[in-house]
Amino acid sequence: MTQAPITQDVLTIPRKLPESGLTNLVGLTREGLKAALIEAGTPEKQAKMRTGQVWQWIYQKGVRDFAEMTNLAKDYRAFLAENFVIELPEIVTKQVSDDGTRKYLVRIAGGHEVEVVYIPEDSRGTLCISSQVGCTLTCSFCHTGTQKLVRNLTPGEIIGQVMLARDDLGEWPEPGRAPKDEARLLSNIVLMGMGEPLYNFENVRDAMKIAMDPEGISLSRRRITLSTSGVVPEIARTAEEIGCLLAVSFHATTDPVRDTLVPINKKWNIATLLDALRSYPKVSNSERITFEYVMLKDVNDSDEDAHRLIELIKGIPAKINLIPFNEWPGAPYQRSSNNRIRAFADIIYKAGYASPIRKPRGEDIMAACGQLKSATERVRKSRKAIEAEAGL
Ligand code: SAH
Ligand code: SF4
Repeated sequence: MTQAPITQDVLTIPRKLPESGLTNLVGLTREGLKAALIEAGTPEKQAKMRTGQVWQWIYQKGVRDFAEMTNLAKDYRAFLAENFVIELPEIVTKQVSDDGTRKYLVRIAGGHEVEVVYIPEDSRGTLCISSQVGCTLTCSFCHTGTQKLVRNLTPGEIIGQVMLARDDLGEWPEPGRAPKDEARLLSNIVLMGMGEPLYNFENVRDAMKIAMDPEGISLSRRRITLSTSGVVPEIARTAEEIGCLLAVSFHATTDPVRDTLVPINKKWNIATLLDALRSYPKVSNSERITFEYVMLKDVNDSDEDAHRLIELIKGIPAKINLIPFNEWPGAPYQRSSNNRIRAFADIIYKAGYASPIRKPRGEDIMAACGQLKSATERVRKSRKAIEAEAGL
């Protein structure tokens, strides 16, 4: 049986863009932006003000050309253009599902690709973004898990996904007009695309700080949900340093089953994970932890599982999000029947927990949960290896 790699790869972050040799401003924190402006020659006394102005142009107004930054002196605009660029990852293809879901294939530096999914709903629009190209983990039901990790995304590549979706949705304010906050098309972010966000903690944190900055994209921390497979040491940090909502890929109610589904369980088992969640600093009834639970036929979907789940999470303000398994070519599992999913949901609901069944979105374009996989790394694990990891 192949041992799942569960260590974090340390990967270099490209700061300078190879094409132009100029520094990309997208993805720098406020402090980073200020330091970059000073290093290029902006007088220290002006730096704070210039940082605020440039920041607003980039993140509040969506401007990409320094020449359009009209509250800056012409020679300062020229200075910026000589030293910096404002660059986003590139959309390679865009597919639109029958249900309105949009899937973007996005190319980042080095020619790698990640997927980003936009899901429109009645009362909100959610962007599902990726944090890594591939994933070091090998959850046996997840398509991304069959793709080797290629690299961590930089903060610019992470926030860049949000910005290019806003481009595509036409959601930057028109010049001279105040930004409209109500009825945003892109109102929520979920870190549920490719990769394990807590194995790329700092970059995810910096990108989400940019997303939350009130003078920029300005999304509330309660509109951002980070999903982790259970990287226990980083869970408390998520509350302290990002402050967003947390979702956990729980998926099983016994360690032997969770070991095969979510192999990181071999490192931090169910009891250890639950301890970390119990002490998640900001948990309250209004900010419940979401337990994600993929419904796999005859694997984790019995009534006993539902009862065990209730026992396990006792005392944790929680909502249980049931995800009907989304198939992908070669997947070693089947989706539980609708009746089974409803019966499971019912038991949980009767115990006092919200138990919504996630409606698969964008299945026709392979955009549903766990179906994302880019062609960047074509070395596929064999079906046999996947089955071995799943203990089948
Ligand atoms: N790596 C993170 C976030 C990405 S996955 C994590 O594992 O939490 C987002 C959610 O989709 C996770 O709960 C994941 O377990 C689930 N998922 C993965 N593959 C799936 C599939 N084929 N069908 C349904 N859900 C899946
Ligand atoms: Fe990675 Fe999440 Fe997929 Fe597991 S479910 S392989 S952690 S992306």
